[in-house]
Amino acid sequence: MRLVLLGCPGAGKGTQARILCGQFGLAHIATGDLLRAEIDKKTDVGLQVADYLRKGMLVPDDVVIQLAAKKLDESKAGWLLDGFPRTLEQAHALDAYLRKASQKIDLVVYLSMREGEVVSRLTSRRSCSKCGQVFNVATRPPKVEGKCDACGADLVQREDDSEATVRKRLMVYEDLTQPLVAYYRNEHEFQQVEGARPAEQVTAEIAGLIEAARNGKH
Ligand code: AMP
Repeated sequence: MRLVLLGCPGAGKGTQARILCGQFGLAHIATGDLLRAEIDKKTDVGLQVADYLRKGMLVPDDVVIQLAAKKLDESKAGWLLDGFPRTLEQAHALDAYLRKASQKIDLVVYLSMREGEVVSRLTSRRSCSKCGQVFNVATRPPKVEGKCDACGADLVQREDDSEATVRKRLMVYEDLTQPLVAYYRNEHEFQQVEGARPAEQVTAEIAGLIEAARNGKH
């Protein structure tokens, strides 16, 4: 299966992607995670992109396309894209990659959410510094304050989850990424799912859509 998860920052893409990739045996390709790993390792790419992430701006397309293509090459058995593509240029590059590899996207899922909901979600989001599991101090707190339920490591707040940067990221989303919804709605197998519900409900709905796509039932 080859899946794309679309949605604004904070819609729950990362949380859903982690669970669904485990459930369906797919590679989780999250360009935000790949970029943060480059920054942590202080690679040339990491040094080049750090400022963009800090300011809530999109990293130049060529950098992200190269990172994503490398991961796609390594993930022949199937994948779920989370946070990529984020511009029409990236979507066209993905289409060209797939055409060359004689592959296609089986399903695009758009996780929708209102802006007011997103700001409060993101500013109360915490994630595990080690395994990446995501919590929310308001709606999905860890069992022990500040510690990951799964591995016990410290929870941290992402630098770009401050209110000012969240608002900037949402503006960038509206300008550059929202047009992808129309693009995929017209060109691909596309389903919209309401994101502002308990994570388990959202997972169950998406899992059903993936099953249906796998059985060719859409
Ligand atoms: P995320 O973890 O998906 O919220 O991404 C965090 C940040 O990484 C974004 O605000 C961008 O600065 C950068 N980023 C992640 N994915 C992309 C992408 N596909 N294109 C450009 N920038 C990206």
